[in-house]
Amino acid sequence: MKSWSAPQVPSLPRLAESLELFDTPHSTTLPTHSRQGAASLYVCGITPYDATHLGHANTYVQFDLLVRYWLACGVQVNYVQNVTDIDDPLLERAEATGADWRELAEEQTELFRQDMAALSVIPPNSYLGAVEMIPAIVEDVERLAELGIAYRVPAEDADGDDYYFDIAEAESRTDWRLGSVGGYDRPTMDSLFGERGGDPQRPGKRDRLDPLLWRARREGEPEWDGGALGRGRPGWHIECSVIARRHLPAPFTVQGGGSDLRFPHHEFSAAHATAADGVALAERYMHTGMVGLDGEKMSKSKGNLVLVSQLRARGEDPQAVRTLLLSHHWRTDWSYTDADLALASGRLQRWKQALQRAPEQNPGESAEEPDELQYALMSILALDLNAPAALDQLDMWAEGHLAAQTSRARVRDVVLALLGIDLADGSPSSTD
Ligand code: ZN
Repeated sequence: MKSWSAPQVPSLPRLAESLELFDTPHSTTLPTHSRQGAASLYVCGITPYDATHLGHANTYVQFDLLVRYWLACGVQVNYVQNVTDIDDPLLERAEATGADWRELAEEQTELFRQDMAALSVIPPNSYLGAVEMIPAIVEDVERLAELGIAYRVPAEDADGDDYYFDIAEAESRTDWRLGSVGGYDRPTMDSLFGERGGDPQRPGKRDRLDPLLWRARREGEPEWDGGALGRGRPGWHIECSVIARRHLPAPFTVQGGGSDLRFPHHEFSAAHATAADGVALAERYMHTGMVGLDGEKMSKSKGNLVLVSQLRARGEDPQAVRTLLLSHHWRTDWSYTDADLALASGRLQRWKQALQRAPEQNPGESAEEPDELQYALMSILALDLNAPAALDQLDMWAEGHLAAQTSRARVRDVVLALLGIDLADGSPSSTD
């Protein structure tokens, strides 16, 4: 699947990598290294029916910081993202609106691409839809069934059987344990499973939490050839597990997504991978905070989603949106307000005005040596990608307290490469 156009990323003098990231399973910040100069990242993509609300935008912009940090260290990055272009919520939305599910998926995915490009997010190296990966998914579910880790559950309303993942069997044969990725206890998982697309009440399952791997053909639902499984369509967690394992090393460096993916999605994607290969899926699991609206949780059911495309349509500068997102630490939950977007916009304008005042030349500057601003930003980002603190450093620079000698061109390159914010973009307008 095509991704989106890449933003300009100036190359900077190299600085050694010294990254620490907060890892969900360990519930602490841990050193995170590339291997032989290469790092690999999988960030779960959208289900294309409500793209792109600010919660999505926040997740992809925050992981974009990680990609940018690695690139600035000279690390080769292999970044994979999926599109869940077949799943219940997409079909439900298509049915409710009378749309064709394929057209809805394509239209929303295209909107997402435009939003990502507008927000200066570096595209993944591989952007893959679930539908194009179905043959590989079928192979893996067949394999899990042969291993005795997947089992059939008869479905009254289908021609064949559904396939479920056997948690107990996987635990007895692999290092994976239920809760070891998401870090939740059993009562919490019991309450989250049904809320987040699971089917705890389904008769015939061995454990209420066993997740669906393959759904047999139902009347009126899209279906594909499932080989020995029979016709049907894939479950959600196996999709990401298969895509990641077909396109990244095992284990890869970082698995990312919103904190609502801690369970069941990342728990079971990891479990499926370990059960199929005997190797852990990823070394680190990072979960971004949720974005609310005016103090309330943003949700489809409440209809209070703020879409990036709406903000763009009403003339908001995507760079101001990016500034607003980065003014929150990636792990924190926060709530959007128009007033905060206006503040972020003003802050961006102050930086742009400061760039105009920056010296045109700095005789001491060298193309090989990082300057004071690059050091300041990278050392802050190295500590768990602390973007809000990095933006505070930019405020200090704009007020003349940091890197006052750094040339205009170098400041522009450093800020653009590390934060994806272009201070030379457009003429700065007066804010006050
Ligand atoms: Zn995923």
